[in-house]
Amino acid sequence: MAKSIQQALRAMEVVVGDNHVLSDPGTLEKYSLNMLTVENIAPAGVVKPDSVEEVQDILKIANQYKVGIWPISTGQNHGYGMACAAKPGNIILDFARMNRILEVNPDLAYALVEPGVTYIQLYKYLQKNKIPLWIDCPSGSPESSLVGNTTERGVGYTPMAEHFLFSCGMEVVLADGKILRTGTGPLPGTKTWQIFKWGFGPYLDGMFTASNFGIVTKLGLWLMPEPPAYEPMGIVFNNPDDIDRIIEILRPLKINNVIQNGAAVTHVRKSLGHAAVWGGSKEILPKVGRRFDYTPEVLKELKDTYNLGNWNSSFALYGLPEIIQIHKKIIKDAFSSMSNYRFVDSSEMSDSPYWQAREKIMRGEPLSEFDMSDWVGQAGSLWISPVAPVQHEHVTTQIEIAKDTCAKHGFKYSAELIVGSGRDLHHIIWLMFDRSDMDERQRAHQCVGEMIDRYCEVGYLPYRTNVAFSDHIMKKLGLFREICHDLKRLFDPNGILSPGKSGIDLHD
Ligand code: ADP
Repeated sequence: MAKSIQQALRAMEVVVGDNHVLSDPGTLEKYSLNMLTVENIAPAGVVKPDSVEEVQDILKIANQYKVGIWPISTGQNHGYGMACAAKPGNIILDFARMNRILEVNPDLAYALVEPGVTYIQLYKYLQKNKIPLWIDCPSGSPESSLVGNTTERGVGYTPMAEHFLFSCGMEVVLADGKILRTGTGPLPGTKTWQIFKWGFGPYLDGMFTASNFGIVTKLGLWLMPEPPAYEPMGIVFNNPDDIDRIIEILRPLKINNVIQNGAAVTHVRKSLGHAAVWGGSKEILPKVGRRFDYTPEVLKELKDTYNLGNWNSSFALYGLPEIIQIHKKIIKDAFSSMSNYRFVDSSEMSDSPYWQAREKIMRGEPLSEFDMSDWVGQAGSLWISPVAPVQHEHVTTQIEIAKDTCAKHGFKYSAELIVGSGRDLHHIIWLMFDRSDMDERQRAHQCVGEMIDRYCEVGYLPYRTNVAFSDHIMKKLGLFREICHDLKRLFDPNGILSPGKSGIDLHD
């Protein structure tokens, strides 16, 4: 380890206490692990602050010794990197100790949290204190953080699925240790920090998402008042080619807010994975095999058992019971022109672990889908996430590209389509592979790179990627990349914050 890093770690011990600075081999290995196509990425050490003041001091030391700092909130960024940095030799700033729920306002339906607060923690807090507010969570892990997911612009499954859209007011520690509050936060004694997003003058919050311009140490999040009624709905589609029709029918329902939440359309391979994990039904796995190499008979048996089709759509209705019934009729009528499909009503959902879990997550109960990664051997799992307009021609083009590229490299297509606003669709393609099999890992690497290239060539930008491919995407963005680097020089002239995050690195 370079002397400057050793000196920086010793200086950080004075700030946080020596038991909160770790550099033993076991810890370094834990924080280097990832599920990607690249080698593990080893940090130089891990520091766990307990206060904003400690974060300020740590950044001052990092500037003095010119060492890289990589913040993680809980390090559960599965599919995109986990706790590891983009490059080796950084100090991981782990916010596990800064996990305070600072405020929940039941009347104005918001929370103010520190970075280490997890989805399950806030969920349990609301339950325990009988506060009738719902959270919105991603499906990855209940132990992931609201701040990490929101700064990564993650999405969930309730009407408040776009997490950054429903955030309000940040506290950010800049690379030089200064504290910036966004929105109305700069006004001493502000009464509207978590109420009014835009503040006065330029709106800066977006700059601190998916970037390396600052470290978010507090975040306001709007929560959803528990509705008077909630009705989850599922639809099982048996014809694989019906995705065109499904998309065309969903768009007006979503764009007109008949369906209020993030409506998902899930491919059967991913639905089977969910069914296996969410129900603890490990008996599914031996039947589908490590590479989904099941026979049509086995697929039919599994679909029958778990009430699944080739595509499975889930969404929910929220509000007054009378309005829900009206919306339900509109939705049922909208799909009536199709054939070979059936609705899964809420009364049937408890019979299948897949639908049971969908019912939970659409009312904000955190779930984990990540045991699935052990399925194929040493966990290799990543997500390729291009965004598509909610129009059938775009969605089918994207699916064709994914299927074709997967097949070329010996993988099978598995994905979920999440219709967010009714205009945009997140196409989350899930590549699972065995990291211990070097040939498979290499093929997965080529597959991801090629898929990203093919999507970008025809105008579909991924909304997010893993730490190994950030640079690959950013290099396609011309002037935008240059401006990001100009901003980086302004905010962080020594380039100490998250070097390589989103392909922004002054040392490249
Ligand atoms: P999760 O909440 O899913 O566990 P992580 O903690 O792994 O997410 O964070 C995902 C990524 O988000 C990190 O690699 C980092 O780049 C960024 N990030 C996490 N926490 C912060 C933070 N407090 N401020 C700025 N960026 C952050």
